[in-house]
Amino acid sequence: MTSSMRFMMIATYFAVILTTLVLMCAYVIGLLSENLYDSETVDMFAKANIISATVSEAWETESENEEERFADYVERILAGTNIRGVVENSSYTVLYDTNRESELLGKVYMRDVIKLALDGEQAEITGDGENGTKMISVAVPITQNGNIIGTVYLTQSVGTIEDTIKSTRTSLIVFSALIVLLIGMLSLAMSYIITSPLAEFTEVAREISKGNFSKRINVKGQNEIAQMGETLNYMCDELGLLEEKRRKFVSDASHELKTPMAGIKLICDSLVSTENPDSAMVKEFLNDLSEEVDRLTRIIERLLALTKLDAGGTSLKLEEVDIKVLVGNVVRKLTPIANPRDIVLYTDYHDIEFGSILLDYDKIYEAIYNIGDNAIKYSPDGAFVEFDVSEQIGSIVIKIADNGPGIPEGERDRIFERFYRLDDSRARDTGGTGLGLAITKEAVLMHGGSIEVYDAEHGGSVFKITLPYSRTI
Ligand code: ADP
Repeated sequence: MTSSMRFMMIATYFAVILTTLVLMCAYVIGLLSENLYDSETVDMFAKANIISATVSEAWETESENEEERFADYVERILAGTNIRGVVENSSYTVLYDTNRESELLGKVYMRDVIKLALDGEQAEITGDGENGTKMISVAVPITQNGNIIGTVYLTQSVGTIEDTIKSTRTSLIVFSALIVLLIGMLSLAMSYIITSPLAEFTEVAREISKGNFSKRINVKGQNEIAQMGETLNYMCDELGLLEEKRRKFVSDASHELKTPMAGIKLICDSLVSTENPDSAMVKEFLNDLSEEVDRLTRIIERLLALTKLDAGGTSLKLEEVDIKVLVGNVVRKLTPIANPRDIVLYTDYHDIEFGSILLDYDKIYEAIYNIGDNAIKYSPDGAFVEFDVSEQIGSIVIKIADNGPGIPEGERDRIFERFYRLDDSRARDTGGTGLGLAITKEAVLMHGGSIEVYDAEHGGSVFKITLPYSRTI
């Protein structure tokens, strides 16, 4: 993939550069040849007109030799050039020719440009000469008292112009080839620099898709590609952590399920191995069995609740909730558990009228219930649990305080981990699954809130939930 991308990049560079260079060369050569021809033609017209004016004056002068009459005027002007000058009268007869060897003198010599000049025009023509070389020819009329009495015809081969154009073209081609070579090398290097990290990215992405999150990109520099590499590395870290969490969760969950299953197996085995058990004994076994099944159900229910929470914030069913009503309902539900152990439940709303706020009722109910249930579970008989609801700027604060054993400082973060229990056997005896606070924390975080634990003044612990609200009424 990378090599085809590299090829595409180089091919694109080449196509763009070549097109630009070819167009540029064609334009420069065109412009140059047009300018050179134009300036040469203008120069020849200027010379022809000067000759025409001077020849017109010398027209009537007597001379022994017809040719000598014009020689001075014409040769002076054309000295140092390769221009051939011909003077003709109005009947196309050559009166003078700078080319002494020519046999035109005295003969009729007709050319289209000369005809045009005799019609009073300043005529020019560019074309191939007798021996195939390119020629520029101009002809202008010679006038006397308003009458056209003859023509001056100048012609020259444009070999020098062609040579100049040719050498310019060669230089441009060499120059373009060098540019193409240089750009080719540069684009090859650039494409290598850009695409070679991509091969590494592909390799790492392939490993990720196979479930191997240990590969990392060797990030060099600070550019966009390096940033992409860093992002990919970060993604690998996160995926690795997630995978580790997932494995731990599955193994913890299996371990948790094994305990009640072992209990059930033990009860069943004991019942089978007891010969002629009396009905009271069978009832006792079945009671134990029922307790184990209850524990199994509790674990499975909580695992399902956690899985639902893991599905993400999109599963929040927000509705307008009166927080006092919600806390009151939790307390009412907990009262039958607290009463038999003489545990008193208090509520304090600080005489504040809380408006309705947007919450997922079931999730926050479950969160507060879990904390209240723990407070009762882990506190001694005759203890108290207080539910305190207050308002802070932009948030609702719910504090649940007990005067139970409290939670050691070093354990305060860990109790929110899945399956974590402070005192494993005691927590198990109380029917704990180690999942309650994990569910609570997940629900609070989904609402953009936070949860913390600290020591209560009178001993015991305080769980403080802060929920940012978007009050609707
Ligand atoms: P469990 O189902 O075992 O109660 P939780 O996740 O709800 O699991 O709680 C985790 C652990 O935190 C509990 O096992 C218990 O040891 C400790 N804990 C929770 N609440 C309290 C509390 N109010 N007082 C003392 N310890 C607590």
